[in-house]
Amino acid sequence: MDFLAGNWSKGGKMNKIEIIQADITTLPVDAVVNAANSTLLGGGGVDGAIHRAAGPELLEECKTLGGCATGQAKMTGGHQLPARYIIHTVGPVWRGGGNDEPVLLASCYRECMRLAEQKRLRSIACPAISCGVYGYPVEQAAEIALTTVADCLQQDGQSLEKVYLVCFGDAICKAYNEQFARMNSEHD
Ligand code: ADP
Repeated sequence: MDFLAGNWSKGGKMNKIEIIQADITTLPVDAVVNAANSTLLGGGGVDGAIHRAAGPELLEECKTLGGCATGQAKMTGGHQLPARYIIHTVGPVWRGGGNDEPVLLASCYRECMRLAEQKRLRSIACPAISCGVYGYPVEQAAEIALTTVADCLQQDGQSLEKVYLVCFGDAICKAYNEQFARMNSEHD
């Protein structure tokens, strides 16, 4: 895996967060998160990449799920991915920020972590939900992603040992690393 320089950490929960640059479909983690649309029947971006890599049986399983509301998440098998499970979540479309986008985006991360915890998973990898076609401003999305994940990791007895925040593109990498550094310095 291509770990970024400067991705140091000190505090316990921050030690469990890794910012990496990777194609999420290649990662041998317990679960990968898919930034899906509400039909759960496939789409472009990371959703298309996951469906292509997982194979047609993923679509067959997704057809049984009845879609997914924005801010919620549903789990399937990983099929032909190296990951054991896929957690499909539906991020908000950015409509200027006054339509509950921050609450809904935070809910995506929280619900994915909750499903991972339910299965007592130890590692998950998340793409930058809503930061592609859905148009969420990356700095704001990075703050929500990192603070929500860190908050979830703080809960007692939780199983997750590693949460990979997967960047696909320089702007997102930069925003994640800056947010990570800000939070890390708060825990000196
Ligand atoms: P959304 O509709 O939620 O915006 P997108 O799939 O368009 O979802 O984009 C979400 C993020 O996933 C973007 O930052 C995009 O660059 C990233 N992405 C696209 N393909 C991959 C991939 N194979 N692995 C990891 N991240 C990816």
